[in-house]
Amino acid sequence: SRKIAVKNPVVDLDGDEMTRIIWQRIKDKLILPYLDIDIKYYDLGMENRDKTDDKVTLEAAEAIKTYKVGIKCATITPDSARVEEFGLKQKWKSPNGTIRNALNGTVFREPIFIDNVPRLIPAWKKPIIIARHAFGDQYKSTDFEVDGPGKYEVTFTPTGSSEASMRKTVFDFKGPGVGLGMFNTKDSITAFAHACFKMAIDRKLPLYLGTKSTVISTYDAYWDKIFIQLYEAEYKTEFERLGIWYEHRLVDDMVAQLVKMEGGLILALGNMLGDIISDLVAQGCGSLALMSSVLVAKGERPGEFVYESEAAHGTVTRHFRQHQQGKATSTNPIASIYAWTRGLMHRAQLDGTPELETFAQNLETACIESVVKGTMTKDLAISIHGNKAGPETYVTTDEYIAEVARRLAALQAAS
Ligand code: NAD
Repeated sequence: SRKIAVKNPVVDLDGDEMTRIIWQRIKDKLILPYLDIDIKYYDLGMENRDKTDDKVTLEAAEAIKTYKVGIKCATITPDSARVEEFGLKQKWKSPNGTIRNALNGTVFREPIFIDNVPRLIPAWKKPIIIARHAFGDQYKSTDFEVDGPGKYEVTFTPTGSSEASMRKTVFDFKGPGVGLGMFNTKDSITAFAHACFKMAIDRKLPLYLGTKSTVISTYDAYWDKIFIQLYEAEYKTEFERLGIWYEHRLVDDMVAQLVKMEGGLILALGNMLGDIISDLVAQGCGSLALMSSVLVAKGERPGEFVYESEAAHGTVTRHFRQHQQGKATSTNPIASIYAWTRGLMHRAQLDGTPELETFAQNLETACIESVVKGTMTKDLAISIHGNKAGPETYVTTDEYIAEVARRLAALQAAS
């Protein structure tokens, strides 16, 4: 049958180990049979990153800026053991960090809910997307120990001036203790806010910002000030048209509400809260293999955004060792498939091609229906049946992908 013509290219960032094996299967069985697509391929596998002195990662980031959609496989972040295993020239940095810095983007994490896969928080049914502002604050702070009485002050000296324009006493120590100084920037918070508003519009979901501005009345309130200014100036009309909204909430109220609600929101959080609460949501949804992730950044022209989608999990090394011994594995490919569907949905929105959007939607439906109708990988069988899940309750990765392909074919034929 006729393939769907994809108007503009997507950037494919290949990765490592078990997910690299799965990546190829996804393209061969689920993507390429349906799409006439120009794939700009970058091999971010450990060997090629080492061979190119990690230049391939920066080139891939540049390509994402150019084509606006990147679809990334999980990659190894080398530690000392990996340096030895691969005989690396050096301990290369995390590709995800390199790409995030190059694009100055925001990471949105979203669990994939499947009805029959139990969740620690069963009330959750609609999308819950956590946006973490992964810059500054405690993670780039200066902290220190104080060993006796003394005064802890902060000063600010404007560039070009020899005099401090601001001096405040943080604390008068009467004995030993600890201190910490931290910062953030208007540019970074503004980019974060744009990414959050854009995501809310794309997904047609309300946006909440959670801070502790009652207690940290200048620092935390600064986020709300920037968010509300941008909202009023650039996004409110579009939000109202879509029937969604932006609200600032106290983070303690927000968390209390989150564990009781059905979902259906985007929650924007600072660096530390985002780190903690995204883990809470990941655990609450039950499976690492069902967590998807999208990086959104402002593009070069005003109003333009670029996207990179990926699975939140790693390269599943334990399964790769079995694969290397020639054994079939039951590794869950759903989050890797969602990297493709979410990337293709953005491509479809940018190009205005509903046929591609429907295809991506059908592929997600095929993944979920397979599990609902009983064809799934071992990790999901264990969450449904417990550790006693026998081999009759699950299939291999290839068998699961074959089932998804069958369902996708039927859905495509019907639409
Ligand atoms: P991992 O996510 O690969 O595995 C963690 C645990 O979850 C393992 O028990 C694994 O069996 C299970 N698991 C994860 N995904 C699964 C899936 N799809 N199906 C079934 N089970 C699944 O993390 P790890 O073992 O800590 O790290 C392995 C490698 O991945 C490391 O080299 C690390 O640097 C890399 N990593 C990459 C990313 C990324 O690229 N985004 C994220 C995390 C880790």
